[in-house]
Amino acid sequence: MAKPKLLLYNTLSRRKEAFEPINEGRVGMYVCGPTVYGDPHLGHTRPAITFDLLFRYLKAEGYKVRYVRNITDVGHLEHDADEGEDKIAKKARLEQLEPMEVAHYYTERYKTFMAKLGVQTPSIEPHASGHIIEQIDFVKRIIDAGYAYESNGSIYFDVEKYNHDHKYGILSGRNLDDIVTDTRQLDGQQDKHHSYDFALWKKAAPEHIMRWPSPWSDGFPGWHMECSAMSTKYLGEKFDIHGGGMDLMFPHHECEIAQSTAALGHDSARYWVHNNMITINGKKMGKSYNNFITLEQMFNGDHPALEQAYSPMTVRFFILQAHYRSTLDFSNEALQAAEKGLDRLMKGIEALHKAPVSASSSFDVDEIESRCAEAMADDLNSPIVISTMFDYVRLFNQLSEGKQTLTAEDKAKAEATVQRWVFDILGLENEKAEATGGKDMVSPLVTMLLDMRMQAKADKNWALSDEIRDKLTAIGIRVKDRKDGYDWEIE
Ligand code: ZN
Repeated sequence: MAKPKLLLYNTLSRRKEAFEPINEGRVGMYVCGPTVYGDPHLGHTRPAITFDLLFRYLKAEGYKVRYVRNITDVGHLEHDADEGEDKIAKKARLEQLEPMEVAHYYTERYKTFMAKLGVQTPSIEPHASGHIIEQIDFVKRIIDAGYAYESNGSIYFDVEKYNHDHKYGILSGRNLDDIVTDTRQLDGQQDKHHSYDFALWKKAAPEHIMRWPSPWSDGFPGWHMECSAMSTKYLGEKFDIHGGGMDLMFPHHECEIAQSTAALGHDSARYWVHNNMITINGKKMGKSYNNFITLEQMFNGDHPALEQAYSPMTVRFFILQAHYRSTLDFSNEALQAAEKGLDRLMKGIEALHKAPVSASSSFDVDEIESRCAEAMADDLNSPIVISTMFDYVRLFNQLSEGKQTLTAEDKAKAEATVQRWVFDILGLENEKAEATGGKDMVSPLVTMLLDMRMQAKADKNWALSDEIRDKLTAIGIRVKDRKDGYDWEIE
């Protein structure tokens, strides 16, 4: 059975392309990470889970993956232009904290909540504040190439010149005229030659706490700079995949492309991959809609929009049930359906583990692997992987009654396939088996003991057969003998 080749939708070419890494067997992937200004919230879940799925899948396919996801801990005026003061700086000033104390607190919260969601730690999580030297160097390269100018101690990117030589807007499909009318009047606008020029380095106002020395002024790098500088440092001038949420396409990723092309003479990333956004009851998530839900609230149910608490795996399963390029609406109804679906999936897998084996198989287990592999290779179609699993869960549930049968070899094959797709690649966990790190260890162990008991019976070793049954009963596992097998349950 030939493995299907991965087709990945490239935002840059607006079509699915066959994935070919630059270096055979190795993949470099950069994903824009969180800004650590506040508590992790629902908006963080989709990019984290989408690129975790891709990370896990590429590793399962045998690639060595270097996955870099940055931490934006340098304050940027652009993030809070309405208030005119950087959020970290403001919180730090009000609470007399070091800015790094605030950033560190939220970074740790982000990591804790991502771990609950089954999101694996990337290979490198570089902090913007730890790469000021690299960012200053990158700004210098852009100045040397002639695509930036200094104004009152700040450095701006010369979008018009760049657009003349290259083309600005290739990712988002915008042209300069669209952008002029879109650009809000921000602080420092008077220093720019054009409203669409963007800051590479900003001179810090006297009250701005986070600042670093540079050849131009005491200040801080522009927001887009950290991703160009850190992706180049850790993945090289040309790397495979750049990911992030669709909301980052413009201006952030557009500016990254312009910066990298200006400094290096070419774009850095080959495949630009963007996940779609989430909505809540049909609305964009935002403080003004009263539907801004933190992950802590999601997991404890403490928010007026939530009818109940939803477990991390319910949230993960819900996100994976939609294709990453589709919109996804959070509602109590949809989440409750996901909770039931996940429970049904886990129970079906338990039914497979518990199932007795037969002399013949009534269905083809190789098809589970081929159908999942085909769906995933088609631009990460996780909803099809999940619906395929449900097709087989229906069959697994019929094994104990003997309506379906599997040989020992096929049962082991099915178990390995389920392990690979449900647990390793989709990254789901059986939350009811938390004591073993989310992995259901009980079912295979009980099955192993009961298979040994079947052998003991066949050997007429009644003492051993009774001993196994009695010891399982003593730890709360009730064994029920059937005509040609057994069934068991935890009391
Ligand atoms: Zn970025």
